[in-house]
Amino acid sequence: MHMIGVLPTVLHEDEIVTGSVSGGLPLHSIRVSDQKLHFSSSHFVLGSDGCENLHGHNYTVEIIIEGSLNKYGMVIDFRDVKKQALEVCEQLDHKVLLPGKSRTVQVREANDSVNVKVGDKKYVFPVEDCVVLPATATTAELLAEHIYRHLEFPDGYRLKVCVGENVGTFGCYEDSLG
Ligand SMILES: [Zn+2]
Repeated sequence: MHMIGVLPTVLHEDEIVTGSVSGGLPLHSIRVSDQKLHFSSSHFVLGSDGCENLHGHNYTVEIIIEGSLNKYGMVIDFRDVKKQALEVCEQLDHKVLLPGKSRTVQVREANDSVNVKVGDKKYVFPVEDCVVLPATATTAELLAEHIYRHLEFPDGYRLKVCVGENVGTFGCYEDSLG
């Protein structure tokens, strides 16, 4: 079963600014929406009208980072942001995404297979084709949270991740205002 670990930070010390988002300093932001930031995966989601059939999306990922400018006039090095996000996208790409913490979808690994049971339906997938996420569902909102939790930044930045399933439809996750 493929569980994704925490990725190392790639920030360099001289690029880290100490300005606080809540400290009243003017904020700038960057939006990273590179065409390489995508993954093509399959999933299904339970809604109020039942369980969807297994289907796929060409997911897109957008990352917005707010913070103070560093001495180079940038919020954070664009390349650092993209590198971390690309690693997560690559781990999700061409996989069946399954919710490991769902109360209604049973996900069990047995030998080289992942057995999935939801209602009267049963799926059996090769283990290497699956990513079992530590999430209650594989909605765009929770995929955005999953990616968010694998991006490491120093204090003083505010991060938002959006995952698009279809053109113009995004699920997002960001820091709380508190
Ligand atoms: Zn879908």
